[in-house]
Amino acid sequence: DARHSLCYINYLPIHLTPQMVLTMANILVTGGGRGIGRATALLAGARGWSVGINYTRDASAADRTVEDVQKAGGRAAKLKFDITREADVVDMFSAHESYFGTLSGVVINAGITAKSQPLAEFTTERLRNVIDTNVFGSYLCAREASRRLAKSGKKNRSIVFVSSVASKLGSPNEYVDYAGSKGAIDSLTIGLAKELGPKGIRVNNVRPGIIKTDIHDLSGVPGRADKLGNMSPLGRPGEASEVGEAIIWLLSPQASYVTGAAIDVAGGSLTKS
Ligand code: NDP
Repeated sequence: DARHSLCYINYLPIHLTPQMVLTMANILVTGGGRGIGRATALLAGARGWSVGINYTRDASAADRTVEDVQKAGGRAAKLKFDITREADVVDMFSAHESYFGTLSGVVINAGITAKSQPLAEFTTERLRNVIDTNVFGSYLCAREASRRLAKSGKKNRSIVFVSSVASKLGSPNEYVDYAGSKGAIDSLTIGLAKELGPKGIRVNNVRPGIIKTDIHDLSGVPGRADKLGNMSPLGRPGEASEVGEAIIWLLSPQASYVTGAAIDVAGGSLTKS
């Protein structure tokens, strides 16, 4: 399939018992080539995990992330699929499993925002793009993840969504579409945790605050991440790896009794008046 390609796959060690295979972490990260997804992939690589790196446009960033995950000690492949397309999402999970076998975790992270402006000025195209990617795309990925994880024999299975503190703050005059899309993710986390708990699958989310990634370029406000981050109680924007650490913990067996939860990684932004 020309839409995806495999890079630098490491080989499995040859003496693996079936028990070892069941406990090995094997995750797919949507939007894994850049920003928070990339940081999460690198941390997973450092733990020796297998990581599918989904992206849709920036192939060179995905290549770099694959290479860096391998340097860190993990196994990685890039997966070029558009999460807003149903067939792509199904093919993405199939491609991932053909590279690394049964899934243990899915990080539903890919997301976009748009120019900072009040709702009255939004174009219809902008509204569609934001809702399509952040809501529809996340739901498609969550549905496929639910199906695959229910069949997986892995010991520790979970889904982690990347929401935003915007779901609580509303982001007036900036992007109420984005804030609402993340509200949908918060709600989906709670409902899906209840649906999948009896199957032994945990579902959680992280709500980042202002994190230094390319996403702020889409706002059209120069220096946005630094300006807003410096106003947080901790006095600075966050790093992508600081969000990645929370995601990795939620995926790990150390979080075995945590489901339906949201962790704010926001430098205290929600508590500042
Ligand atoms: P980036 O812009 O750095 O990365 C976004 C990633 O999503 C890219 O890898 C991009 O792929 C991918 N992506 C976008 N659309 C699609 C699509 N249709 N199909 C597949 N992949 C897609 O953003 P961040 O790392 O900052 O954002 C990651 C998540 O964190 C988002 O959900 C965002 O809303 C959330 N978040 C970020 C905050 C921040 O301050 N940075 C704050 C709160 C939440 P490609 O590389 O190919 O373009």
